[in-house]
Amino acid sequence: MTAHDPQGEGAPEQGQGEPVPSAFPPIVADVTSALFRQFLDLLPDALIVVDEQGYLVQANAQATTVFGYSREELLGQSLDLLLPERFREIHRRHAAHYFKAPRLRPMGIGLRLFARRKDNSEIPVEISLSPLRVGEQLYVIAAVRDMTAQRRAEREKALLLQNLSVQGELLNQAYDAIIVRDPLDRILLWNRGAERLYGWPAQEALGRISTRLLKTGFPEGEVAVRTVLEQNGQWEGELTQVCRDGRLVVVESRQALVRDQQGQVLATLEINRDISERRQRERETQAMLAGHLSLLEQLFEALPFAVALVAGEQARLLLANQAVRRVWGTDWPPGLPFLEFLQRHGIVISDQRGKALTPEELVTLRVLREQQAISLYQEQVRRADGTLLPVLVSALPLHVPPEALQGERLRQCEPGEPLALVIHQDVTPLKEADELKDEFISIAAHELRTPLAALTGYAEMLLRQTERGHGPPLATWQREALEEIQQGTARLVSLTEELLDLSRLQAGRLQLQRLPADLVPLVRQVVRRLQPTTARHQLTVQAPAEPLVALIDPHRLEQVLTNLVENAIKYSPQGGPVEVRVVPERDGRAILISVQDHGIGIPRHQQGQIGGRFMRAENARAWGIEGTGLGLYLARALVEQHGGRLWFESEEGQGSTFFVRLPLLREESEEGCEQRLDSEASAATPGLPEAGA
Ligand code: ADP
Repeated sequence: MTAHDPQGEGAPEQGQGEPVPSAFPPIVADVTSALFRQFLDLLPDALIVVDEQGYLVQANAQATTVFGYSREELLGQSLDLLLPERFREIHRRHAAHYFKAPRLRPMGIGLRLFARRKDNSEIPVEISLSPLRVGEQLYVIAAVRDMTAQRRAEREKALLLQNLSVQGELLNQAYDAIIVRDPLDRILLWNRGAERLYGWPAQEALGRISTRLLKTGFPEGEVAVRTVLEQNGQWEGELTQVCRDGRLVVVESRQALVRDQQGQVLATLEINRDISERRQRERETQAMLAGHLSLLEQLFEALPFAVALVAGEQARLLLANQAVRRVWGTDWPPGLPFLEFLQRHGIVISDQRGKALTPEELVTLRVLREQQAISLYQEQVRRADGTLLPVLVSALPLHVPPEALQGERLRQCEPGEPLALVIHQDVTPLKEADELKDEFISIAAHELRTPLAALTGYAEMLLRQTERGHGPPLATWQREALEEIQQGTARLVSLTEELLDLSRLQAGRLQLQRLPADLVPLVRQVVRRLQPTTARHQLTVQAPAEPLVALIDPHRLEQVLTNLVENAIKYSPQGGPVEVRVVPERDGRAILISVQDHGIGIPRHQQGQIGGRFMRAENARAWGIEGTGLGLYLARALVEQHGGRLWFESEEGQGSTFFVRLPLLREESEEGCEQRLDSEASAATPGLPEAGA
């Protein structure tokens, strides 16, 4: 850049047109003078003076600070020095234009002007131009203001405004009613949620006293709410308010005070959510629950069984119906643990045979410990006055969420404590009916014995004596009739025997005559005896050669095996193989006898009941196969009296296998008569229910 002499030859023509007023006092005789410079230094803005050729002739101290050049570096330089490259050309044109009609004006209105500093950085500037005529020479004084800070502030303001409008939009998007009130409760902000909820448009709500507009009801009292707000800065609770159309709404309100830095309250922010519908639903549910509850309570009382709700491992009583008193003969006070109650009143609970049950065995305590339903378990209650009550006990663990425990008594249950419903059913009438039935069976069976013996005896005598030539020979029809009588009476005799066994069993008089005997020949003998009774079945026996000695009543065991093999034949009406297997268990302690057929099988849903007294499967009846449902009941009882187990596996339409597991007599225990199988034997008995269940 070349140095420039402001008074030099290249000076352009003077400005034409209107005279240029001098903005400066007459001290300005020479713009380059020290006096003028000092004067410029006094002014707050950065000032530069440029001649018509675009050379800098003066700059004040502020200008040197703004541009980063010393005054010496500036003076004589082209103005281009202070312009970013891209503006130089356009600036030159503007300058030429300006000098033609110089006047006081800001430069580049609406344009973003930038200047270049010595370090090459650009700064946003605002420039005011003022023409200055000194003698014949026309200059321009440019006041340059560094706008960096201002532009930053403008940007921040724009951002803030943008944020505010986003927030306003957010407030409007909120479903809740959002209200801002000034300290006098006048509404400052009213979002669309508030318009929706209350029906007042913002322009009508703004400026009104909110509590008056909405006729706000404070269930806790207005003073209390204001006190909490004042103390804690916030408050939450329910309010009632009235909408523009007179509708009453219940709102869940959250309010917070907005304070300035000195702690002065500026406004209250209030967010209200309409919960009218929820409250209405709750009221309806509660009314319904109350209805159900009273119905339940009535049902509970009307039940003929003693129903008790107990809690905790000790079975503390929570609730009981009237019938509980009838079972125990006294009141069981709420809160009292079960065992304590029994002890206090001298009540003893025993099993069917009268053996007192230990606390571990009592259903009422077991259900709470085991958390499993127990159904129809037989117990006997001996009350303080000595009266005995047979009961069936059922119990159900309850899994109730703590909040469902309504009512004073139920609330005495600790959260997490086990809960159970225990039902004692007095079965005295059933027991009596059972005893009557047993008695009848016993009498009928005994009474049948004598006439049956006579019938059998005489039919046999008639046939045998005639065969021997005593009396006239029998016609064919007479012989056939006699043979029919013989078969019929044989069936009756076996039925009578079964009934007698049943009544002996019930009375505990079914005694075994046990002696050591080899089981293998016994099994073979039963099969050999029954094979001639059927032409359609092939009976086979698989058994080891060596003797398998057990302590048995051979007659009774034969009865058991006969029943199983006869059933296998009877319940496979299409014929087929019947396989009997005798297998000693590996440890030599027991023997497993199985009888397998490929007959009609037992329907799965009835398998649990088969083996009960008089129980027959429906498919047996459907096939028209006759029977009494007593054989298996007796067989099982007999096997159990031998210390063994009887069970079966069966698939309907495929066949059944019945198993008998008996303890073998081992040399070291041959002396003893009492041999029991361990309880594991019963673990695999899916097909037969427990006695007494
Ligand atoms: P029943 O005199 O009826 O044969 P049981 O006590 O011997 O009486 O058997 C009870 C019931 O068990 C039978 O009625 C029958 O439904 C079923 N049952 C017993 N054994 C078999 C078998 N091998 N196959 C199919 N069902 C059987």
